[in-house]
Amino acid sequence: MPTPQPADAASTFPPPAVVEQRDGLDRAPHETARGVDLWRFVKKLQTGRTLSEDEWTALIEGRTPDLADRLFAQARAARDEAYGRAVYLRGLIELTNFCKNDCLYCGIRKSNRQARRYRMSVDEVLACCTQGYAQGLRTFVLQGGEDPWFAQDKIVAMVRSIRRQHPDCAITLSLGEWPHDAYAAFRAAGADRFLLRHETADDGHYAMLHPTSMSPDRRKTCLFDLRRLGYQVGSGFMVGSPGQTARHLARDLAFLKELNPHMIGIGPFVPHRHTAFRDEPAGSADLTLFLIGCLRLMLPRALIPATTALNSVDAQGRMRGLAAGANVLMPNLTPPQYRGSYDLYNGKATSGLEGVENIARLRRQLEEAGYQVPLARGDSAVAVERA
Ligand code: SF4
Repeated sequence: MPTPQPADAASTFPPPAVVEQRDGLDRAPHETARGVDLWRFVKKLQTGRTLSEDEWTALIEGRTPDLADRLFAQARAARDEAYGRAVYLRGLIELTNFCKNDCLYCGIRKSNRQARRYRMSVDEVLACCTQGYAQGLRTFVLQGGEDPWFAQDKIVAMVRSIRRQHPDCAITLSLGEWPHDAYAAFRAAGADRFLLRHETADDGHYAMLHPTSMSPDRRKTCLFDLRRLGYQVGSGFMVGSPGQTARHLARDLAFLKELNPHMIGIGPFVPHRHTAFRDEPAGSADLTLFLIGCLRLMLPRALIPATTALNSVDAQGRMRGLAAGANVLMPNLTPPQYRGSYDLYNGKATSGLEGVENIARLRRQLEEAGYQVPLARGDSAVAVERA
């Protein structure tokens, strides 16, 4: 039986924004939703678990604070039914900030000559896992740019070492696009999960955010390969990225419905000072929260983090994210000497409750808010495909 819910932090904490935020979307006048009963769409989502592209667009464009509060209440109930009051913690290890790619929004893109580059040794990674294990973490997320130095055999060896050292833990990789055989080799070595955000499901919008060497079809192929290989797969997108419209977001939601991932990570776009998007406003925390609520109703069994990016634009983002339907947090296990260099966007939160050194405080805060923090891998309730 679900325990009583805490006050709806998503609505009771006004967001003290630390960066300028894009308040809303690039709206086309003919796409506004005035006069439409949007609550009807929320109810439809709750029962049918999907909406048409037009309905999604209308819901996103016409959202109001009151509608958001009612959506969050439904989203919390759906989350509690699937997972109870558990909030799962994952230890994030930012392995390397070298990247061969040049995504236009990214602070560690290869053409940013001002980035201080680093890559961790396997021994350093294992030491992070040991530290995280002692703090009660049972999932390690190895994240990095697409660094050619970390060739397939190096990653296989690293995954094997972690698997040997921590047989009871989940190993999650977030290391970009690879051929099918490489994904298969990582899986055989002991990797359980893979995170690969699609970022935007609209081809034209994808082309605005990425160099021509990158392809949205390739990204989607990777995601479906990962699913077929038996990974628990995570995907997701940025909210408020330059040029994004409600229609684009509707396509993101439709794509996620089709993929049916085990994990979904979304966060507001935040500009980086050494990219072409340096003067663009950040995405809205409120819209990100609204979409977390929508995702929870659409895919109630997915694991959904309250992301660092959300917490970076809104000091209460972590608790507001949970109150909107999220159920995962990712404390940072990266050694302090590297953490500041994994500089994806301006003002990325790396200290305070984001850091593993404060995990006891984080647990206390969660428990005081009525959540449980199990000492467990926290596997997804979405069924894994057979390889
Ligand atoms: S978003 Fe990822 S793939 Fe793109 S440049 Fe940044 S680290 Fe590399």
